Amino acid sequence: MNGFQVPPRRKYLVSASVRQELKEKKRPVESSYKPPDFDVVIPLPSLVEEGRLSLFPKISRISVGVATCGRVAGAQSIMQTLVERDWENQARVVSVGCLGACYAEPLVDIRTSEGRHYFFGGVDRQSLWSIITTALGSPPPVKHLWAVAQERQTGVLRGIHDLELIQLEKCGFKDFFHPQVRRISGRCGLIDPQNITEYAATGGYQALAKALFELKPKNIIQMIEASGLRGRGGAGFPTGEKWYITSESPDPMRIVVANADEGDPGAYMDRALLESDPYSVLEGLVIAAYAIGASQGYIFVRHEYPLAVQTIRNAISTARKVGLLGRNIMGSSFCLEISVVESAGAFVCGEETSMLQVMENKRGEPRCRPPYPAVRGLQNHPTLINNVETLANIPWIIQNGADAYRELGTATSPGTKIFCLAGAVERMGFIEVPLGTDTHVLVEKIGGASRQSIKSLHIGGPSGGIIPYRRFNLDYESVAATGAIMGSGGLVVLDQNSCMVNMARHMINFMAQESCGKCVFCRDGLPQLESLLLELCIGSARDGILEAIEELSRAIRDSALCGLGRTAVNPVLSTIKDFFSEYEAHLRGCCPAVHCKPLIDFEILLTSCRDCKACYLVCPSGAVKIRSGRERYIVDRQLCSKCWACYETCPFDCIKITSEEFMWKNS
Ligand code: SF4
Ligand code: SF4
Ligand code: SF4
Repeated sequence: MNGFQVPPRRKYLVSASVRQELKEKKRPVESSYKPPDFDVVIPLPSLVEEGRLSLFPKISRISVGVATCGRVAGAQSIMQTLVERDWENQARVVSVGCLGACYAEPLVDIRTSEGRHYFFGGVDRQSLWSIITTALGSPPPVKHLWAVAQERQTGVLRGIHDLELIQLEKCGFKDFFHPQVRRISGRCGLIDPQNITEYAATGGYQALAKALFELKPKNIIQMIEASGLRGRGGAGFPTGEKWYITSESPDPMRIVVANADEGDPGAYMDRALLESDPYSVLEGLVIAAYAIGASQGYIFVRHEYPLAVQTIRNAISTARKVGLLGRNIMGSSFCLEISVVESAGAFVCGEETSMLQVMENKRGEPRCRPPYPAVRGLQNHPTLINNVETLANIPWIIQNGADAYRELGTATSPGTKIFCLAGAVERMGFIEVPLGTDTHVLVEKIGGASRQSIKSLHIGGPSGGIIPYRRFNLDYESVAATGAIMGSGGLVVLDQNSCMVNMARHMINFMAQESCGKCVFCRDGLPQLESLLLELCIGSARDGILEAIEELSRAIRDSALCGLGRTAVNPVLSTIKDFFSEYEAHLRGCCPAVHCKPLIDFEILLTSCRDCKACYLVCPSGAVKIRSGRERYIVDRQLCSKCWACYETCPFDCIKITSEEFMWKNS
């Protein structure tokens, strides 16, 4: 149809490192485990003591957030400058992960010996002097200071909830953090992710000690079942049930895998946890392995996350050195080896059976289910696969109990959930709230968006749904009722200038690129669907196209083998359901959001034009013409490249964007 060609398939769906292993005939799952050279078990109280000295030094502690979001904003050069300075034993500089307030990066936190924290946001070269003088004990200059907090009990810091905001200068810190409950992500941005002792000093590894020495594996599984924890990676399958099924397998070779192949654009909670608090994921993984009787674990991590890969590798190596991984963990009889496998770099490889294929050095294509991985997974052994955020919940549940866990969230979706808030909001970042929290709390209170400007929410990544903005509770059932899916928790706020047809096309384009090509409807149907949507966006659609789009979407949804294909059409079906008028308008050659370039025109409002010439000077294609007479300024539509430069430059708002009947349609 319409001369559309199927894009060429990628040659490999496995990463370079996996291919190298394949060449060397090293299979990651074969029993390559060798006992470590060391056999040291450092008692937990010693780690805690050392961690306290590091977290609460007698001098100022300067923490620079150098997770990926901080680095992008220039945190590394700030870090380098601070590290190279001679502090004459008056301050210590450490690197930490992301506090979650990504909009305020680079972020620097100065802790004084009295337990006071001075947060500097949006740090640049100009604010360095303020940071230095504050760390040296002078009152902080307010110019660059964003917030001040005090440890509720000096020397106690298990998470950000142990800090009380006492002075707020800028940037909506209170609005951003106040509605949140940072149960799982509370340590992020406060501890050094490379330092196991700081993790221990904030309560880490207490849950593992309890699991190994006070609980039996079956008690742990019962506790997880009673907590009602649901998998945080997508469909929300009950975690305890998965654990139970795996533990019941007659095959003694059980495997546990942390799925950190986070491919959803707009979602980065797994990355944030791995970069900022890797030991919580590791601790959850060890507890899961102990509960189901596994002796081998893997972390399957997205290879586009080099910092997360490096951080988790360091964490594994350190945990081994102190006896928290490997042989006889914490002096118990339990042994577990964990390896990191870098993913193949394709979205579909996050699907669990596809992930197993990659780990077996095969092409990353989903397998038919059943059998489910919990019954027959990696190299046919029962395999427990949990998402990173799911595993990070485990230590909290073991330490505090199932009933305490259920105190937050709803009856069917208990606990908290991390969302990545992006799009048309003032404050973007990763946030943690109880499941069932009203959308307006996330979008308006935390994000700072104004209700009038919001058009819709895109929930659950490319295979989620685009739904009109309204108040509803964000839990698994309520999101499903809207026609979207929770996915891993990406939440993109779309404003009135977002075109729903173009957004749907954009998502389908992504999914078509990521299809593994195993089944026809997904492989050929998605590119075809994209080409139909493109026709609408460029104004060349003919009658009957809307019916064709809907019919093809339903066919793909009903015929695809795996979740990727079945959910890929969600953005189309959800927008057809809720924004049908926009599809109809596109069919008439009009884009109501004035977004689709071929369907819009720029006009100069001569009644308000002040003759300042700015539009004429900025226009890159000479489309703005100046003439003599009353109609002095006009835009030549033939020359206009729709670059928006004149619209953005005009100081008097007298350039209008219109979208009317498409002129050359049917001509
Ligand atoms: S639905 Fe798509 S991604 Fe899934 S197996 Fe079929 S072709 Fe591959
Ligand atoms: S949109 Fe760009 S090309 Fe068109 S008139 Fe304005 S500045 Fe010129
Ligand atoms: S920039 Fe605005 S005010 Fe100035 S000449 Fe152009 S349309 Fe008129």
